Amino acid sequence: MKKNDRLNKCFMCHRDKFDIEFFNKNFDDHRKEEHGIFNYVYFIPYLLKKNPEVYTRAESYAWKQFILRNFDWLPFQNDNF
Ligand SMILES: [Zn+2]
Repeated sequence: MKKNDRLNKCFMCHRDKFDIEFFNKNFDDHRKEEHGIFNYVYFIPYLLKKNPEVYTRAESYAWKQFILRNFDWLPFQNDNF
């Protein structure tokens, strides 16, 4: 990823700043909150510590996909890696 891309594209979904702000969203908020990479990095350890009986529906889905080694639910644009 080029330096300019790192500054102006989301690492996770690869949408650019203009595209995100076109829909009245703040690009920095998108990168920190909606697609903050650390949200995903810490998500599986979070699920490991949490009691599966109280998983939310989304957490249950994510855990099942993790067990199946299916990572399609992550917003990565695979052609960028
Ligand atoms: Zn994104």
